[in-house]
Amino acid sequence: MSAPDWYEAGLPHIWLPYAQMKTAPAPLAASATHGSRITLTDGRELIDGVAAWWTACHGYNHPHIRAHAEAQLATMPHVMFGGMVHEPALRLASRLSAMLPGDLERVFYTDSGSVAVEVAMKMAIQYRINRGEVGRVKMLAFRGGYHGDTLATMAICDPEEGMHHLFAGVMPAQHVVDLPRDETSTAAFEAFVTTHAHEITAIIVEPLVQGAGGMLFHSPAVLRRLRESADRHGLLLILDEIFTGFGRTGSMFACQQAGIVPDIITLSKALTGGTMALAATVARRHVYEAFLSDNPEHALMHGPTFMANPLACACANASLDLFESTPRLEQVAAIETALHEQLEPCRALPGVKDVRVMGAIGVVEMDKINDPAALRTRFISEGVWIRPFRNIVYLTPAFTIQPDELRSLTRAIEHVLATDNAKRNER
Ligand SMILES: *Cc1c(COP(=O)(O)O)cnc(C)c1O
Repeated sequence: MSAPDWYEAGLPHIWLPYAQMKTAPAPLAASATHGSRITLTDGRELIDGVAAWWTACHGYNHPHIRAHAEAQLATMPHVMFGGMVHEPALRLASRLSAMLPGDLERVFYTDSGSVAVEVAMKMAIQYRINRGEVGRVKMLAFRGGYHGDTLATMAICDPEEGMHHLFAGVMPAQHVVDLPRDETSTAAFEAFVTTHAHEITAIIVEPLVQGAGGMLFHSPAVLRRLRESADRHGLLLILDEIFTGFGRTGSMFACQQAGIVPDIITLSKALTGGTMALAATVARRHVYEAFLSDNPEHALMHGPTFMANPLACACANASLDLFESTPRLEQVAAIETALHEQLEPCRALPGVKDVRVMGAIGVVEMDKINDPAALRTRFISEGVWIRPFRNIVYLTPAFTIQPDELRSLTRAIEHVLATDNAKRNER
């Protein structure tokens, strides 16, 4: 069956993400989604193992979100947020404030995760400026971290993943160190913070799981250590829960497992249940209060054109309804059990370095993946949508995925990795 005309006509004009366009395999043509399934224009159907880059936590086309989106579309799809507010944004802000721990209660909306992190960085820097604390402008971030693709956020990503060498000189220099995981790294971390605290405004970390940097896990104790250190040295703690927020790690927010409250938190990905672009940077009262002043320069000068888009906020409210009315966290717990059982056999396969699971995140780490794109193609031929990157194959399914669909995903991983290795051994 030949490709649709829009595909042939449009593809020469598209620049794809994270792809070497010269060699990248032709992208799939999607025509419809439903539940955990993606339908392609040639009639094939794939089971989605990544829930649209970790966003579609209730599955695709959930009728409740759709109903709210349709109602909002009919009344007010968008209106500017400068000097004007509306019900979906304010309802969402009060709900997020009530759900989040401590006094995280001021919500600043943006339309992507990277920008939410940039806003958090600007808040943390201007917090010092407004308080007359001179020279505390740097961020302290961690190896293995990922916080976005814009220039400022790249600088706080893992230096290798963030391609710091390629953009050296144009990105602001930031501090990127090892997470304080054990005695040695904790001592090194403490020594670093003691020396540099005078020039640092905030520590930023993805709590419990460093996602795009390689699905690396750490324990709640690491987060408590960071909170303690931040308090001791007068630093702000920013938690980037763009990936971990909304149930992914087993609790509504990852920070709840550590019992800590960050000074600023960033949210996006699953915020609208994977339907619309929306992000939020939420600040604690003391951060917000540093911006209250008679000096006009003390205001937060930021305002994306589409911030607080009513349609997106309506979808986010509908998504929160579903977290309240359905047993989503129990579903995550059931997925966690199933992923443990079903991925564990992969540990015995040659080339497999580690198998790890947290909440609805299942990871098979390989020694090396020579050609992630070729591996993806193999998964597609097995009827599943799984996107290996670096040296990992992972699953982040919708929380509503059916047990047989999840089984198909884990079986495909085991089968593909087993036969892939068999081939490598033949050579
Ligand atoms: C995806 C992600 C971002 C960036 O979000 P975008 O919407 O892609 O800009 C930032 N931080 C974390 C932890 C993420 O997973």
